[in-house]
Amino acid sequence: MPELPEVETTKRGILPYLKGQTIKQIVVRQPKLRWPISEAIFNAHGQEILDVKRRAKYLLLQLPNNWIIIHLGMSGSLRVLLNPQQAAKHDHVDLTLENGVILRYTDPRRFGSWLWAKKLDHVTQLLHLGPEPLSDELTAKYLFSKAQNRHVPIKTFIMDNHIVVGVGNIYASESLFMAKINPNRKVNTLSLFEFEQLVIAIKHVLSKSIEQGGTTLKDFLQSDGKPGYFAQKLQVYGRDGEKCYLCQTEIKSQKIGQRNTFYCEICQK
Ligand SMILES: [Zn+2]
Repeated sequence: MPELPEVETTKRGILPYLKGQTIKQIVVRQPKLRWPISEAIFNAHGQEILDVKRRAKYLLLQLPNNWIIIHLGMSGSLRVLLNPQQAAKHDHVDLTLENGVILRYTDPRRFGSWLWAKKLDHVTQLLHLGPEPLSDELTAKYLFSKAQNRHVPIKTFIMDNHIVVGVGNIYASESLFMAKINPNRKVNTLSLFEFEQLVIAIKHVLSKSIEQGGTTLKDFLQSDGKPGYFAQKLQVYGRDGEKCYLCQTEIKSQKIGQRNTFYCEICQK
């Protein structure tokens, strides 16, 4: 599933081809995505793409009077085609621009979405989202105050989009390892200092992943390539039974909130 770093990399990859371009044509081959694509989206014809932004895992195409809001779901991807190419089975949407570039959306499982909105605050999916993890709004003090009177495990807490967006399952395990915090700890038992370590870790792990994603940008131009999801060196995720890189103890795995969680019980208190 595309996580925040992949979505950010996608944004950076498509931005130079889209910004300032007028939409010449929209082709919707399959409107039945997670939510059906509204016919109103055809009003985008002739509108200029002023900017491409990201909020949580949503890509936002800013038009003069509207927004197109794209989510990649479980298996969605966007590619920039410099020359027309025949659409394949799962190529559900094309956006053709005046410069001839086609932005093509492919999604075998169709859990993604293309929403059309007049204003972003009309979009229910974007309401009540917590701060962006890489923004200055995510601070230890903020998390600490949100954690008072809560009893959920810290891992579940940081994966909650209402608290902070974009900390997916892999990044939650990796950040907690870096901050040396056991994922089972109840949030109200963490000190402000521990939240400081955790915020540093979350920002580090996510920015590292986005940095590595930069090397896959060329994939947006490959006709058959999909954006590569990043083969980064993971410290704990998926390593159960293998030795901790710090203390050589076996990494444990456990389900927390129905999600696989990996940690070192010696390094993480
Ligand atoms: Zn260890």
